[in-house]
Amino acid sequence: MRITISAIKADIGGIGGHTRPSDELVDAVKSFVAKNSKGMLIDHYIGFSGDDIHIIMTHTLGVDNEKIHKLAWDAFTEGTKVAKEQGLYGAGQDLLKDSFSGNVKGMGPGVAEIEMEERPSEVFCIFAADKTEPGAYNFPLWRMFVDARSNTGLLINERLAEGVVFRIMDVMSGKVADLKMWQDKAELEAALMYPGRYVVSAVFSADMSEQIVSASTDRLHNIAGTYVGKDDPIMIVRTQKNFPATEEAGSAFNDPHYVAGNTRGSHHMPLQPVRLNSAASLNYSIPIVSCLLFSMHNGKLTGPHDGFGTVDWDLQRMWAAERAMIMRNQGFIHPATLIPEELEYNKGYQARMSKLESKFRDLEEPKKGKAGKR
Ligand SMILES: [Mg+2]
Repeated sequence: MRITISAIKADIGGIGGHTRPSDELVDAVKSFVAKNSKGMLIDHYIGFSGDDIHIIMTHTLGVDNEKIHKLAWDAFTEGTKVAKEQGLYGAGQDLLKDSFSGNVKGMGPGVAEIEMEERPSEVFCIFAADKTEPGAYNFPLWRMFVDARSNTGLLINERLAEGVVFRIMDVMSGKVADLKMWQDKAELEAALMYPGRYVVSAVFSADMSEQIVSASTDRLHNIAGTYVGKDDPIMIVRTQKNFPATEEAGSAFNDPHYVAGNTRGSHHMPLQPVRLNSAASLNYSIPIVSCLLFSMHNGKLTGPHDGFGTVDWDLQRMWAAERAMIMRNQGFIHPATLIPEELEYNKGYQARMSKLESKFRDLEEPKKGKAGKR
């Protein structure tokens, strides 16, 4: 049976700042989808990660389907009404266009979608991040599909050993490139090196017959033309059988790496694995990622199970909190802060730099006095 999983997310308001949506906002989105999805969706789930609310949907309408995207857009619009009524912070923040025009891509919400021939035991993870950017998944995806130290499956699973195909996007130009492991490994790594520019949008099996990963890649400032918040990414990763084991996918997040994000989206901070439906931290809002595990049969979902909910992940949470303090204690000095090109999307930084620029002048030649004459 051909099934499509669509994961669409948006930040449409938080309680007291960029923390988490209110229960009433989540309920408004839930009841809108429940009422308006009859005959369209097979199943759905709604939750949040920090201030980003996600709608996970299963259906048979394929990817980039207008009806599915409109349903999510309208549900977020409905949630925004509640956010405005409650005075939530950043109400409707990610809805960057006034009206829906066919596809939510390029309109603010993040989208990850995979159409697949459902396996008898279809299992997948959804990774939902907050306070960071799409490139945050570059390193975990490299660990899952390239790094045998992280994933022994790359050696002992026949299909994974053949090497996957990474589709990377240049988020500045919108162009994509398909890189086949293992011959294009060095070029892949050169791209992943700079997560602000090159982002993994999908991963396929060696023969391109199956899509394993889909990740959102929209950068909000490319749409809005200025800084309007971070582009918190969502990603679907299918697991088991010919794909990484579920634990190999989850473990790729067990060494919290530094990503761009944090308060004002201007810092490098570690990506902290958190429980489902966690609020963002008031400790400078450390970038967070949650993991929703699902089983699916004929499009019907069982789950989510909380992938980072077991007690051992408290260790990684502590590591991330400690690494966050180590970096953040360096204040505004790079590399605690982002490179100028990234900060320049922020109008405040532009203002400081243009004032600074106006003060620069050529160094004057020292005047030759009489004493200097011969
Ligand atoms: Mg957010």
